[in-house]
This record gives sequence, structure tokens and C-alpha cells, in this order.
Amino acid sequence: MKDIILNVPSSPRVIEVEESILGKNQHAADQNRRLLREHGILAVNLMSSPGSGKTALLETLLGRLQGQLKAAVIVGDCATDNDGRRLAGRDAHVVQITTGGYCHLDAEMTAQALAQAPLPEIDILFIENVGNLVCPASFDLGEDFKIALLSVTEGEDKPLKYPSLFSRAAAVIVNKIDLAAAAEWDRERAMACLRDAAPGAAIFEASAKKGIGIDALLDWLRSRMQEKRRIPR
Ligand code: MG
Ligand code: ZN
Repeated sequence: MKDIILNVPSSPRVIEVEESILGKNQHAADQNRRLLREHGILAVNLMSSPGSGKTALLETLLGRLQGQLKAAVIVGDCATDNDGRRLAGRDAHVVQITTGGYCHLDAEMTAQALAQAPLPEIDILFIENVGNLVCPASFDLGEDFKIALLSVTEGEDKPLKYPSLFSRAAAVIVNKIDLAAAAEWDRERAMACLRDAAPGAAIFEASAKKGIGIDALLDWLRSRMQEKRRIPR
């Protein structure tokens, strides 16, 4: 999307291009959402900057969900299938999307990944978006909701600098909380920034690596799944 916008001369044209891209994306996202609903799958779109712990969180969640809920993961990265490999070997179906430099996942890529997943067996789908705090927020993939991660090493004001991503998140996970002291994390300031940028979001303070805060997050995810399954398909 970035290249197309840079190549067009005037701002009204930019808006047209962006609207047509997003319009096409929305059509595919609506189809994905219908498909996921038919199968009663709760779909979560995980977004954050690179290195804030999305894959580590998934490693922990998949371990904890084993034997309880059947999980699947779609992993998006610009290059390498490192994360897909990290998650393989667990009791979850993993599809890696390598975007070839593309800086976000879109609904069509997600549809292609869904076509490879055994949907009737799946209860919960995690989509690990490309690490990027900007455009992933604009692309609906057909998920039930977005979750944003913010690690304590990134700085307390990231939610104010990237408000569209945080404001669209149903939940924010403050990750690497075990490193808070070393990172001189100002918790009060961070919570004030989050209240400002994401006033409606559920906040979880967690350490994916140390397993802190994971119970609360899992309880919340289970409640979201029960809510979804109460609505007739
Ligand atoms: Mg990752
Ligand atoms: Zn992008």
C-alpha cells in the first residue's frame, strides 16, 4: 500500500486508492468472518511492534490450551518462517504466511491460510500479524477482535504515538512485566497513556516467558468464546 500511495501525486487520489484497497479487503474480511462463525471459531488478531513478544505469548498460550481447546495459528512475517517453526510441534495447526516484504497481513492472505486449516476441528484461531504498529490496524482480517501487545522495553507512550492501533484493540497485553524494573518502566505513566489511547480495552500485565498474567488472559479469552458461541450461527 505504501508504494502505491507514494506514486500518486495529490492527496484526494491517495484517499481513493486507499479506499479501494480497504474496500476490497473488507469484502474478503467479511467472507472470512462468515466462515469463522460457521465453524464457531474465535479469531484473535495479535498486533505489536517487532520483538514485543507475540510469538513467545503464543508459545505459552498454546502450551496452556493443550488438551482444553483446539488452537490454530496463522503467523505473518515479512521474511523467514522462523516463527512458524518455533510454534510447530505443539498441539496446534500452524500456517506461516511470508509476505515478501509486505508490512501487514490482509484479508486475502488470511483467506488463503484459512483454506489450509482444518476448520471443523478448531476452537480458537490466533493470527500473529507482521510486527508493525501502523498499517496492521487498518486491515480487517475477519477476526472477532484485535489484541495489542506493548512490552515494557518499548516506552510508556507508544499507545499515544500509534493511537489507531491501540484504540482498535479490545485488549492490550503489557508484556515482559518481569523486566519492568530493569527497563525503568513507569507503570503509572503507561497506564495513563493506555487509558487515553485505548479507553475501552481490557489491560493485562503479563510475562509470556515467565507465565505471569496468563491465567487472567485465558479466562478473558474463554469468556469471549462463550459469548460468541451463545449467539446462534
Ligand atoms: Mg513473531
Ligand atoms: Zn503495511
